[in-house]
Amino acid sequence: MNLVFLGPPGAGKGTIASEAKNYFGIPHISTGDLFRSHIKGHTDLGKQVKVILAAGDLVPDSITIEMVKQRFLESDAQNGFILDGFPRTIAQADALSEMKALDAVVNFVLDRDQIVKRLSGRRVCKSTGKTYHIHYNPPKVEGIDDETGEPLIQREDDKPEAILNRLSVYEEQTEPLIAYYREKGLLVDIDASPAPEKVFAALIKTVQK
Ligand code: AMP
Repeated sequence: MNLVFLGPPGAGKGTIASEAKNYFGIPHISTGDLFRSHIKGHTDLGKQVKVILAAGDLVPDSITIEMVKQRFLESDAQNGFILDGFPRTIAQADALSEMKALDAVVNFVLDRDQIVKRLSGRRVCKSTGKTYHIHYNPPKVEGIDDETGEPLIQREDDKPEAILNRLSVYEEQTEPLIAYYREKGLLVDIDASPAPEKVFAALIKTVQK
């Protein structure tokens, strides 16, 4: 099953994808996670994109497309995948259509107010990438990761200025993909406002149709 998760930042794509990958037995390929792991590993690519991510801007298409191409070569991606955060531009979507045929594009629908609430309350464990929310999905002990006991951090790009920038980047560059995929008959809308278990159940139902 070749799936794309589309939708604004903070809509819960990553949370749902990490459940769905086990259910479908396919990898969760998040371009944001791939970039963050390059940054953490201080690779050349990581050094190149660090400032771009912190500001909430988009990494140039050529770099992003090449990274995804390489990821698709890995053995776990041969029988399906969930792409999360890619494509984000029409140029990326065109490039993807030459690499893989898609089964569905799941559009996570969430209004602006809720997006801002979710992003500003998001906290992350730096070493494992596990995410929490201060209200909707708090850790057992405030500010501490349940598994490692490490202090949770706020992503640079979840800080107020970057959030607003990411939203306008989303609206300008990524939202046009909704019409792009609707025209191709691939788009399915999913209400991203309920709790993750409900969104996940709706996803399974929708995709299995
Ligand atoms: P995410 O974790 O999906 O919110 O992505 C975090 C950041 O990584 C984005 O704000 C961009 O700076 C960068 N990024 C992730 N995916 C892409 C993409 N498909 N195209 C360009 N930049 C991306």
